[in-house]
Amino acid sequence: SVPAAILSALSAAARGGVLFKGGGALETLAAVDTFAFDKTGTLTNGRAVVRRIITLDGDERRFLSLLAGLEAHSEHHIAAAIRREAAVRGIAPTNVIDVSSRPSAGIVGSDEFGPLWAGNPRLVKDMGASVDRAEFRELADTTQTVVYLGRGSTVLGAVSVADEARLSSAPALTALRNSGVRHIVMMTGDRRPVALRIGAELGLTPDEVHAEMLPEDKVRRVGELAAHGKVAFVGDGVNDAAALARADVGIAMGAAGSDVALQAADVALLSEDMKKLADARGLARRTAAIIR
Ligand code: ADP
Ligand code: MG
Repeated sequence: SVPAAILSALSAAARGGVLFKGGGALETLAAVDTFAFDKTGTLTNGRAVVRRIITLDGDERRFLSLLAGLEAHSEHHIAAAIRREAAVRGIAPTNVIDVSSRPSAGIVGSDEFGPLWAGNPRLVKDMGASVDRAEFRELADTTQTVVYLGRGSTVLGAVSVADEARLSSAPALTALRNSGVRHIVMMTGDRRPVALRIGAELGLTPDEVHAEMLPEDKVRRVGELAAHGKVAFVGDGVNDAAALARADVGIAMGAAGSDVALQAADVALLSEDMKKLADARGLARRTAAIIR
């Protein structure tokens, strides 16, 4: 039978918006010594905003209409930012069909004139396109996320999208370290300059920041970390269900988390407040001390 201390800890956690799938997850969380975090929508607030727009033909409205048409089909935080920008400017999204997402790269589809794509430098390369031209130079160095839009091997333009660290992230990482967590790493599909900027804001060193990862890279890295101790992976469920499943404790962020993420996870964090995560770890440790 489950010890009373665990049952009462599980219900205390639930009152604070942290749902454990069982007592085992609580006990494992107490033993975790490595925390791996997804970046976008997890350590950042996911309320990204479009900053710069660069079009090669100067037609920003047409550009945003095409881009928003593609992003209408994506659940990514970046896609939401682009849709909001188009909406604010009163620009209707182009009708795009045959859409498929390229995890950690972007999205592809077709309008009436043919195939279209939007995504990061990885997708640009996959499409046989190049962004090595003067107009895009400032974007290559920016510490914001960049989305390029193209048709075939022709790039039409790009936007930079800014997303900030949650205010609760840095104090939560400190609290985790104070509760015996030895390693904290960030894993992201975003470009390294963006990842390093967010990491620095959170007190992470460059070697604690892993960028330009595909979902399968995150799974592999979690497995490698798990060879050295218990690993928790914290993600928002966009492109990271497999990493959530691979970790000793998968923790899914946000009430808006996808069903897949919630299925893969051992813990659901209903609040967006990272402090709840540190609180849950503290509770798990105190409970483990009682039942030991
Ligand atoms: P993270 O690991 O930080 O949560 P993801 O792995 O979800 O980020 O995405 C990594 C990168 O892939 C994004 O930074 C973006 O450049 C690109 N990307 C993913 N989805 C889209 C999309 N719908 N539109 C444009 N770019 C995208
Ligand atoms: Mg994410």
